[in-house]
Amino acid sequence: MNILDYYKDSGEPIKCLHCESENIKNKVRSVDCGYISESEVNCGDCNKIIGYWGYGFYDPEFMMDAIKNAPLTNNQGDEYEMRLMQKPNTF
Ligand SMILES: [Zn+2]
Repeated sequence: MNILDYYKDSGEPIKCLHCESENIKNKVRSVDCGYISESEVNCGDCNKIIGYWGYGFYDPEFMMDAIKNAPLTNNQGDEYEMRLMQKPNTF
């Protein structure tokens, strides 16, 4: 899994990391003086929350969680490899 297939650098979701859907929906959560101030980003297919936008920025937490929960595969980033090496050998 390459996180940048799923999230832009800004934290904006590109596609759902749960079901790979590109059917992304924004749900307004808060409006200030007629302007949207907070918005939840949902997958239109599995309905999971995949991002949160507030006051001009995407919450980086979702991207961080996606990295943490990513399955360890061959094309993982350096960070994953470091972690893999630190893990005790379980097999
Ligand atoms: Zn989904």
